Amino acid sequence: MIFGTHFTNELHRVTLNFPDEREEKYREYYFVRSFKTTRVAYLILAFLYGFFGYLDSIVAKDFLQLFISIRIVVVAVLLAVFFFSFSKKFKNNWQTSLFISYFIGAVGIIVMLIMMPDVIIYSSGLILVFLAGSVLIKLRSFAVSVASWIVIFVYIIAGIVWNIDRTIIISNSFFFIGANLIGMFAAYRTEIFNRQNFDLIVKIGETNRQIEQANKNLEEKVAARTKLLNSRNKELKEEVKHRALVEKQLIAAKEKAEESDKLKSAFLANMSHEIRTPMNGILGFANLLKEAESEEELDEFINTIINSGEHLLNLINDIIDLSKIEAGILKIEKSKFELNTLTKEIYDMFSVDSNVVNKNLKLTYQNDLADDDCLIFTDRMRLKQIMINLVNNACKYTDEGSIEFYYTIQDDGLFFKVTDTGIGISEEAQKYIFDRFMQATVGRTSGRESTGLGLAISKTYLNLMGGEISVKSKLNEGSEFYFTLPGVVVKSKVLANNGV
Ligand code: ADP
Repeated sequence: MIFGTHFTNELHRVTLNFPDEREEKYREYYFVRSFKTTRVAYLILAFLYGFFGYLDSIVAKDFLQLFISIRIVVVAVLLAVFFFSFSKKFKNNWQTSLFISYFIGAVGIIVMLIMMPDVIIYSSGLILVFLAGSVLIKLRSFAVSVASWIVIFVYIIAGIVWNIDRTIIISNSFFFIGANLIGMFAAYRTEIFNRQNFDLIVKIGETNRQIEQANKNLEEKVAARTKLLNSRNKELKEEVKHRALVEKQLIAAKEKAEESDKLKSAFLANMSHEIRTPMNGILGFANLLKEAESEEELDEFINTIINSGEHLLNLINDIIDLSKIEAGILKIEKSKFELNTLTKEIYDMFSVDSNVVNKNLKLTYQNDLADDDCLIFTDRMRLKQIMINLVNNACKYTDEGSIEFYYTIQDDGLFFKVTDTGIGISEEAQKYIFDRFMQATVGRTSGRESTGLGLAISKTYLNLMGGEISVKSKLNEGSEFYFTLPGVVVKSKVLANNGV
């Protein structure tokens, strides 16, 4: 697999070059891995090349001077390459330097071989040179093959030119070619091995990087997932909390609905009683009319019938208002009107009220604005109804003493207050008297026409108009009911004077 696919697909068969940018990297890698070995090899070769001069002194006495000169030149070249290997320029020229020095070394031996053709040590010497070229000096296989073939070619040509015995040339060439083929094969295999090794290192590096990246990605994914899960967890906890709250609210709403249902039933029972009382009054006294014995008695019966009728009408109006509120169809219809006229109407109405007259209550009122400067803009009918409810309650729940009502202007809003010296309301009851159908206590309101609707209706009206109602009260001492209604004053000298 490594030899087959790798080799055929990726390396050039002859030059053994990579087809891509790996070639560049491989050369760098090859240089880094080889230059020290090359250095040592050149030292060894320089020594051997020089040391073999000893043999010259034995077998080639006639040419000793020439041979020694050749050896000196070659050793100088080899040492020059050795020293050059320490220079920075060596990296870019090292293969050329190896090629040239290898060639020079070989040519030196060829010269000796030509001079002494039948001495075996020089042909062996050339084979040693081939050996050194292919396995020792790290010249690339293609270069060493080319150089070796040129060397053999030079030898044959020189042999022919110097008229050396053909048999010697041929037999030497046989050995040289054989040695060269073996050397080529060795260099070729070594280079393939080196290149495949390099390729594997690169691939392992890449795979490692990919694994590292994949690891990193995985870690990031795990971190993101953990974050998501944490936030989901948080959301779920919130959701559970929220649901628990909703459940609580639902239970509360259910309890309230049940309570409201109970109250409605109680209200209906109360209502039938409340309606029956004035109805009985009307029917009973209407029957008695026929039997009246005097004018006064007749007047008394007629008055009772009228009072009962009015009470019935008020009750029915309250019920209608309530059902409108429940149905959400209650509309606020605003208009401009004079506030003092309204308070006067209230006063006139209650100054002849049976409660005030019969219990001899002192009813007083006060206006904040002057009669000619008291325009306000709101729903007159509802406002009057609220005021009537409050003043009526004060008259109803006061057995002796006084009732006082007044208004003031705060900013451009209305502040209205009714104070009485009546039976008062417990702190506990103050919390719910504004709720529908709620009365302070059944016992304490008995004997008074009471439905528990007036304050609830008043509060709803006020809220619809943007206002608020409150109470301050002490049992057996009296009560203060007051409300605010913002943004209703149209134009007032009081406001103008205050710079508003
Ligand atoms: P109603 O007067 O028809 O019962 P309201 O809603 O007007 O209905 O009043 C609710 C309850 O508040 C009354 O039943 C009464 O107990 C108490 N209340 C209201 N106004 C006064 C007041 N001025 N003094 C004492 N108690 C009051």
